[in-house]
Amino acid sequence: MALPNDHQLRTYREEARNLMPRYRHMLADLVAHRSLPDDPDGLMACAQSLRDIMGSAGIDATIFPSGEAPIVLGRYRPAPADQDRPGLLVYGHYDVQPAGDAASWSHPPFELTEKSGRLYGRGTADDKGQILCHIAALELLRARGQEPSADLVFLFEGGGEVGSPGLAEFAASHRELLSAAVAFSADGPRRGLVPNLYLGTRGLLSLELEITTARGDRHAGDYAGMWANPALEMARLIDNLVGDQGECLVPGFHRNVRDPLASERALMERLPPPRDLDTGLTPADAYRRLLFHPVCNVSSIATGDPEPGGRSAVPATARARIELRLVPDQDPVRVLGLVNEFLKAKAPGVDVRVLASVPPSRTDPDLPEVRRMTDILRITFDSNPSIYPMMTGIAPDHVFTRILGIPSLWVPYADRDRASHAPDENLRVSSAISGIVTSAAVFTGLLHQIPPMGKDDQ
Ligand SMILES: [Zn+2]
Repeated sequence: MALPNDHQLRTYREEARNLMPRYRHMLADLVAHRSLPDDPDGLMACAQSLRDIMGSAGIDATIFPSGEAPIVLGRYRPAPADQDRPGLLVYGHYDVQPAGDAASWSHPPFELTEKSGRLYGRGTADDKGQILCHIAALELLRARGQEPSADLVFLFEGGGEVGSPGLAEFAASHRELLSAAVAFSADGPRRGLVPNLYLGTRGLLSLELEITTARGDRHAGDYAGMWANPALEMARLIDNLVGDQGECLVPGFHRNVRDPLASERALMERLPPPRDLDTGLTPADAYRRLLFHPVCNVSSIATGDPEPGGRSAVPATARARIELRLVPDQDPVRVLGLVNEFLKAKAPGVDVRVLASVPPSRTDPDLPEVRRMTDILRITFDSNPSIYPMMTGIAPDHVFTRILGIPSLWVPYADRDRASHAPDENLRVSSAISGIVTSAAVFTGLLHQIPPMGKDDQ
């Protein structure tokens, strides 16, 4: 099966629409689970529901323990089963962000509500609703008696909102089960009305710094000027660490930063301007700075008693949270070594804790899989996709590109105004339908002409 023609696309759309009652039923089931990072029972119950849903779609699904959040791994082998096909690894996450204050929601967060063409509830967009587009797409194809052109491997984790702890280890120790030619995911939001294709992510090194100079706060009248002030030490340390433009001032930090490739520059030339950013730069330069320049963000500083009318004291402790957004080809382990050494030299008493460490990751825009996906998106959405060399947020892309060594393609189905991580998270019914159609086209068309990996070696 090659790329779908107009007639087939119309049929896919019609059938995806007919599948919506079933899709809503599955989504209501998943949204009802409080699959939150600190709720192991909620995560397990959601994993079990997801496994059962996958089973009813003909997917052979199993739950694997992995730290706090189980991994649901499924496989679908198209008929005839003895034929050699490349694998397509489909990634998603079934955990969600906390609902926050339920009173700020117009509908109960853990109950699926449909209103004005939108499906509301925590996880409808990020990422339960998008996971279900893949599953519904397989159901659509099977109901038509049409088989995917690839072996489908579904990897759904429960730690996507908390930096995917354990996913890299799981992938490294289950390479056989995850064997595939390409990774594909629908996590994240779509910018604008055209389809988006993302070819990687920036990396992240998130640190908590703590300076403690006493066991408790001390009377300012008695001790100010006589006792080390950790607030002042932290302020000086941060001033040494970060420049005016957010650049990291640690010597050697920029050594492995590489310029964008010609193909990546060409992609950025064609992108719409970044939203809400009035930088005075051209869109291409703004993206170049956003995606290819590492940045050091101070996300919080906490010390003393900052409330109005707070106590006057020499504080005992100052804490700061620092996020280093890394770009190709920086290595967070090497960066941590440099930053640690620098901080300890400036403030020997500083305590440095690593909160997250994620390597940057990229897929080459010149690969045939990228061109093929571009063709699929152009046909299914009837418009040219915006192709981003990297996404600005964090995703476990390195697990696919670095550990499994395969290209990785991200095509978000959720809308820009989806309110994920916020009250009234939602997914447009029309976006779910176009997501199902896209997944069906990807399952049948992406790996059509690409030979199975390693076939020549056998
Ligand atoms: Zn997500």
